[in-house]
Amino acid sequence: MNRLKGKVAIVTGAADGIGLAISQAFANEGALVVMCDINVDKCDEEAKRLNDNVGTARSYACDVGITKDVKNVVDRTLAEFGKIDILVNNAGIALSGNIVEMPEEDWDRLMNINLKSAYRSIQIVLPHMLGKQSGSIINISSIQAFRSWDNWTAYAGAKGAMCSMTKQLAGQFGVENIRFNTISPGAILTPMNEKRIQEEGKAFLQKSIDQAAMKRLGKPQEVAMTAVFLASDEAPFITGADIKVDGGLGVLPRYL
Ligand code: NAP
Repeated sequence: MNRLKGKVAIVTGAADGIGLAISQAFANEGALVVMCDINVDKCDEEAKRLNDNVGTARSYACDVGITKDVKNVVDRTLAEFGKIDILVNNAGIALSGNIVEMPEEDWDRLMNINLKSAYRSIQIVLPHMLGKQSGSIINISSIQAFRSWDNWTAYAGAKGAMCSMTKQLAGQFGVENIRFNTISPGAILTPMNEKRIQEEGKAFLQKSIDQAAMKRLGKPQEVAMTAVFLASDEAPFITGADIKVDGGLGVLPRYL
């Protein structure tokens, strides 16, 4: 409790899955949480639940693929709370496709939501953080940034770029006390994967379970705990890091 007391956090893709778990964990630790999502009704509902039971949360409609939406979130947050201490770029979509067949519109859509969104929000939030010489920016990447997985070229490309840009920014702005880190989740049971189960069956998730050292799926809360740590004053000297929350999916195969 209180590890984020008084800190103001923006979390994108906060209505469900990992973003919702991060919002809940931040609120439990005393943060004032601005929850943004394209799914406005669910985001409103979840923010209300947090307000009623835990602390302060707001729900702002935002498509991270649209610059004016992101700017609106930042302006409203500063108008209401006066500062932004933490930014979590979490919103993302899962779009697969063999590169030979993948339509250019799909590639562009994925890059816009999963990668350009981080450029957008960081460009708008960073000047404020520089002004107060402090901030923690957490970008949600994926273990797929580090592994080969048939037909996930665009997704893995966006997530790999997310890690690279995070390191670049950590290097440049460390002296200004702004920390940039990524979290790379493995296979986590969220609505994103539940939707894929409906569309393609469970086999793809079973493969992830079989390939993970811990032989199970992760829970959104297990990613959220790492986000709390990185956002908190327990990690004041951690920047440019990538923390894999993947149950060992990234360490296998091993030689037996
Ligand atoms: P999720 O269950 O689909 O939840 C994502 C939330 O973001 C949903 O509320 C979704 O709304 C919203 N969203 C989608 N597009 C948006 C946009 N353009 N602007 C704002 N909000 C948007 O996803 P998740 O599994 O929690 O994934 C969260 C992040 O973790 C993503 O970046 C994902 O790539 C990454 N990740 C997930 C896994 C995993 O196994 N789940 C593994 C590695 C990395 P709708 O429901 O209306 O689309």
